[in-house]
Amino acid sequence: MKGFFKKVLRIHLGDRSYREEEIPEEVYANYLGGKGLGTYLLLRDNPPGIDPLSPQNLLIFTLGPITDTAIWGSSRYGVFTKSPLTGLYAESYAGGKAPEAMSRAGYDAVILEGRAPSPLLLEVSDKGVLFHGAEDLWGLDAYEAEVRALERVESAERKGALVIGPAGERLVRFAVIANDRGRQAGRTGVGAVMGSKGVKGIVFHGSRRREIAKPSLVGDFVKELRERGRQDRGALAYKRYGTPQLVAIMNQVKGFPSRYWHQGMVQGWERISAEALLEECRVRAKACPRCFMACAKVSEVLGGRHKGLKIEGPEYETIYAFGGLCLITDIKEIIYLNDICDRL
Ligand code: SF4
Repeated sequence: MKGFFKKVLRIHLGDRSYREEEIPEEVYANYLGGKGLGTYLLLRDNPPGIDPLSPQNLLIFTLGPITDTAIWGSSRYGVFTKSPLTGLYAESYAGGKAPEAMSRAGYDAVILEGRAPSPLLLEVSDKGVLFHGAEDLWGLDAYEAEVRALERVESAERKGALVIGPAGERLVRFAVIANDRGRQAGRTGVGAVMGSKGVKGIVFHGSRRREIAKPSLVGDFVKELRERGRQDRGALAYKRYGTPQLVAIMNQVKGFPSRYWHQGMVQGWERISAEALLEECRVRAKACPRCFMACAKVSEVLGGRHKGLKIEGPEYETIYAFGGLCLITDIKEIIYLNDICDRL
């Protein structure tokens, strides 16, 4: 089967060693994509009944068979573990440029096992794994940690980093793993699991490319999708307004999570809508690699006490969490809180 490297990398943090594992063809055939592989590995290898923040809990990163191909929406990675938030199965996903660099290291999955005795920055590439001390990075916010982690691996050209901020280090049970200054694997507390392992960040690079069974069909598919996207009104609206366009829609149908899940609409939602964002901020579209949709927005606050503050976002979920659930009906204040969360 094409599309996979058929190799998994297992990194033992306790003694700074690693090994490669071949994955049988049937696993790829029976479990769907990166999500299937991550779930398979977690169920196969995670011992039952363990504490999610113990060294026994595995932290598994996976990619799917179209990552780093020309297909739109494919630049994503998944994280699988036992959640410190729920005590159950955990999966979380993020986009950005980092998944391409992860893919070029040439593994379908990278598994972190055990716990490092002191903070580590891992360098994973098609040449293997290097273990860098990360005492100097411990305590840095996610933005700065990412910049410094990438600087540390200066020789590599196309590289991407996944990092945690102070929340992950302190085992906050909903901490995230961050990449590309503003992208996060934000669900189920995967950042706390990374923190419990003493890993501040992982830098990926390499030159491996996955094999595609029928490249010309992929080329035709990508072309067709791009043409359709150019004319599609939904795609164009997504490009202009991003996910914040949902604020108006959900308030109008009274499905906007508000007043800590007690209401479906918030008074003054117009002040936290996509239109308010465009009015209060300089907004520029940003895309993951090869994505014509460019749903991401880089927003810079134009006035008030947060003038000049620039973030990637806010997304709809951030707006409903602070705007709806906490009743903060000022888009600039939501951007401020978004920035703090991204750094942590
Ligand atoms: S820019 Fe948005 S739509 Fe495009 S791949 Fe990234 S997350 Fe998906």
